[in-house]
Parts: sequence; structure tokens; C-alpha cells
Amino acid sequence: MTAAGRGSLDETDLRHLRRCVELAREGLEDGDEPFGSILVDGQGEVRFEDRNRVKDGDETRHPELEIARWSASHLTADERAAATVYTSGEHCPMCAAAHGWMGLGRIVYALSSAQLGEWRAGWGLPASPVAALPITDVAPEVRVHGPVSPYDDRVRELHRRLVERRTGLA
Ligand SMILES: [Zn+2]
Repeated sequence: MTAAGRGSLDETDLRHLRRCVELAREGLEDGDEPFGSILVDGQGEVRFEDRNRVKDGDETRHPELEIARWSASHLTADERAAATVYTSGEHCPMCAAAHGWMGLGRIVYALSSAQLGEWRAGWGLPASPVAALPITDVAPEVRVHGPVSPYDDRVRELHRRLVERRTGLA
């Protein structure tokens, strides 16, 4: 938990994070990587949800990128700014950039990219091909909350299962 973490989150935020963990689990169980994300509008309504879909070879099919693209044709600029994107894992630089370009609002993530990178190294995996930059290094104006325990540990367990499936090492 960082100072920017759970302190400013309420039970509604945590419920949305739990949904992201569920979506991440769905992805894992369907042969994809365990990442799940939702967009909640300024009225508190869940408008879009998705999870990782890279198993067929398109490595850019991250749910956070799908959300940014969806928002282009379904929300006005004001609605985008008022929306919150919840996600199981912190946006990668590609998705953080898409979020920033679209002028979307706050991001709440369970697990940070730094945490995931450390764990992956500990599991003996090669570094990701894309740097694990904090969201605000890419999109400095975005308000960001995370990591959020205990959901970071729950997502970690999903990633551990992914490694186990792929390598049998974890
Ligand atoms: Zn991404």
C-alpha cells in the first residue's frame, strides 16, 4: 500500500477492483494472461469491461487499450474525464498513453507494474519487452491510486499460476 493507495478509496471502489480480479481470473482460465479492467462513468455505472485477449497472437490486446478505444465512440470528452478506470494491473506505457490521449479520468489499480516486474524476475522470467514505467511517467495528469491490498496479492497469485502453467517453475 502506498500513500496514494487505499486511503482515498471507498467500498464501491473495492467492489469494482474485485470485478477486475474476476475478469483477470476469467482471462487466465481461458488461456490468456490475468489482466481485467472496467470503465465506470461519473454516475457510478459500469459501462465497459474487458480482459486480456493476447492468446491468439496480438500482444496489444490489453483491456485498458480496449477501454480507451471504446471511450472514443461512446463517451463525450466530459464523460471521459469524469470516468474511472479500474484495473487488476497498472497500465503499461501503451495503455497509459492511450488513456492520456483520450482524456480519461482517474485510474485505480490493484497491482503495480513495479510489483509485477519484481515478481516476474523472482520467478526467473525474462524482463518484459516494454519498460514498466509508472502511469504518471507517461500520462502525468492522470490521478492514480494503487497498489491496493489485498487485491495485489490476489492478482499476484493469478500471475503465479500463469507462470506455473507456462514453465512449471513457480
Ligand atoms: Zn497495456
